[in-house]
Amino acid sequence: MTALEIVRIPVLSDNYVWLVHDSASGGTMVVDPAVADPVLEAAAERGWTITDIWNTHWHPDHTGGNAAMKEATGCTITGPAAEYARIPTLDVQVQGGDTVRLGNHIASVWDVPAHTAGHIAYHFADDGAIFVGDTMFAMGCGRLFEGTADQMFANMQKLGSLDDATRVYCAHEYTLSNARFAVTVDPDNEALAARLAAVEAARAAGEATVPTTIGAERATNPFLRATSATELGRIRALKDAA
Ligand code: FE
Ligand code: ZN
Repeated sequence: MTALEIVRIPVLSDNYVWLVHDSASGGTMVVDPAVADPVLEAAAERGWTITDIWNTHWHPDHTGGNAAMKEATGCTITGPAAEYARIPTLDVQVQGGDTVRLGNHIASVWDVPAHTAGHIAYHFADDGAIFVGDTMFAMGCGRLFEGTADQMFANMQKLGSLDDATRVYCAHEYTLSNARFAVTVDPDNEALAARLAAVEAARAAGEATVPTTIGAERATNPFLRATSATELGRIRALKDAA
């Protein structure tokens, strides 16, 4: 099986849309298109035709490009069954335990409620990659708009059970803000201090800082390192107020 080609497309102020191509089948999938045009252009530049969109949750900065991309390409849109009413462009509804595929690359769907009530993630186990939308960020986690700290704690524990090498494709460049906050709640963590310095340098040079990895998050992410839902909730409330 040839490796998936995964392209990061920065859009809006800090969103990342992920363009995923399987050369064996010719399939090209887009995770969470906030907008259509830059994604269509990125695909066209490579000679790829978009066959699929996979949404992680209903927020407009993850679904805003659905309709225009479907009109332009006839692609199939897959997303969370629990948010069907809020994503009227969905063709295929999935939920935790389902599998979806891009060619021979199989992703399992995880239910990761908390940021939104029906939020899902897509885990390509054989490819060592997971698309998490707004559930986990580099050194951060999503806000608890429609769920609880208990749910987000369960999500972090499940993500933390993956191999260190697993690449985590999140939907925003929040890394610098998250790192600056993380050092305030975990001031003695040397790996975190080193990562903050590296991220400051990368951002100053205009570089992206994602995807991240489960290993890096296990070492530095205060939400993944929280040992209880209560602790995660306390840290989340501090971050919301920061
Ligand atoms: Fe969101
Ligand atoms: Zn978002």
